[in-house]
Amino acid sequence: MSDGLARNFLAGAWVEGDGGARIAVEDPGTEEHFADCALAGEATLAKALEAARVSFERGDLADMQPSARSRMMVRVASEIRAIADEGATILCRESGKTLDAARDEFEEAAQYFEYYGGVADKIEGKSIPLGPDYVDYTTYEPFGVSAQVVPWNFPVSIAARSLAPSMAAGNSTVIKSPELDPIGLSLLGSALERADVPSGVVSILNGIGSELGARLVRSTEVDQIVFTGSVQTGQAILHAAADSVTPSLMELGGKSAAILFDDADLDMFLASLKSGIFYNAGQVCSAMARVLVDRSIYEDAVERSAILSNGLSVDHGLINPDHTPVISDLQLSRIENVTSTARQEGARIAAGGARLDRKGHFMAPTILADVDPASHAAQQEIFGPVSCFTPFETEAEAIAIANGTEFGLVSGVFTKDLARAHRVARKLRAGQVFVNEWFAGGISTPFGGVGKSGFGREKGLEALYNYVRTKNVAISLKG
Ligand code: NAD
Repeated sequence: MSDGLARNFLAGAWVEGDGGARIAVEDPGTEEHFADCALAGEATLAKALEAARVSFERGDLADMQPSARSRMMVRVASEIRAIADEGATILCRESGKTLDAARDEFEEAAQYFEYYGGVADKIEGKSIPLGPDYVDYTTYEPFGVSAQVVPWNFPVSIAARSLAPSMAAGNSTVIKSPELDPIGLSLLGSALERADVPSGVVSILNGIGSELGARLVRSTEVDQIVFTGSVQTGQAILHAAADSVTPSLMELGGKSAAILFDDADLDMFLASLKSGIFYNAGQVCSAMARVLVDRSIYEDAVERSAILSNGLSVDHGLINPDHTPVISDLQLSRIENVTSTARQEGARIAAGGARLDRKGHFMAPTILADVDPASHAAQQEIFGPVSCFTPFETEAEAIAIANGTEFGLVSGVFTKDLARAHRVARKLRAGQVFVNEWFAGGISTPFGGVGKSGFGREKGLEALYNYVRTKNVAISLKG
């Protein structure tokens, strides 16, 4: 990247791709051109898939001593930390996020490699009792070639979230980076190189979703698809996967709700709101997109949330402010449109509500109050710094509203009543429930969706079993 051109990491080599095709990458905080990125085409993709297949058949990872695979992955973690300063500055510039958040992505990526490196030699099968005449056991095998398509909101940490368990299980992996901010992710290639990961095991290719991404997931060379992104793209990929009967893991969107009961610690809730909806300018699949508040404390909660939103510092990500731009002008227009539709649907703008009058794609931190649970704003993923507040009268009503969208990624409960917290958590239709702290949990806690938020789980030990398939060996001892 020293010459301003990000390249593809093709099985250990840095290549420009096919026919000199490039995309310009913008700095969302200044709207200025930041760098160019060389795009991989059909020929480069074919080479990456072939290298992955050859590496897999040769057993580069799968036949490596599990303890050696484990040590290699821990080396990847330390090489990621070694490039974190350079990588974070690039990621901050191309994605608009704060420098600290970009650093956190590299740190989290390193932690995924440590975590899954630590279990690479513990993927143990089972022995099944069939009586004295049989020996029966199961083993977990890698799929082969894993195709992984990554979104732009956390390109580095989400790529590592899928790549690390994939490698721990012994798969080869071809990653398609997001076209809006591909460069920080491509740097993972240099960490893999420096850690001596065999060259065909991983390729990271840059390309447009509807072109390179669609080709990758349709390839007959792919044994597994891992997708993180929007519902619409997930559905398109599932159609392709249905044609080839390729196993798939889908991590899709969300419209997650926090339920704020009348006994909740409001300061604790406000700290969670700040990160829950304003971290990464709200471009988080598990953002606190809705807040359902007990009627008796509703006005107070809305007012204090608006004061918090209006008080956030706003600047370029390099300055580490509270609030940063969204990724593109298109994204900003989408967010503004939903906000103005919400107003027409009867919502009250308690804070923000429009783009900020400054260079960069800045949406004001926004609190929409009195949002009708059936309205567009309450049902659609906005993917920006906008939270929708709605009052409720009873616990049952709160649960019904929280569960009343087609999504089910995460949900939250704020209360001092432990019995209520457990009771409500059990009823919430979501892959993960946060109690009294939004984003509680971490890389070791399973994460994934219900309904249109997808299926399969990432993070934690459970995710590992999405990257293997079970084989049973049944042996007769008769005769
Ligand atoms: P997107 O679906 O537009 O793009 C995601 C990736 O898919 C990109 O790399 C894109 O190039 C690629 N792509 C686009 N069309 C494709 C096609 N036809 N075939 C193959 N690949 C294709 O999503 P986005 O805008 O990048 O990300 C935002 C969305 O991702 C939000 O809906 C968010 O909730 C979701 N998300 C989910 C999680 C999770 O873990 N559940 C995490 C982050 C983001």
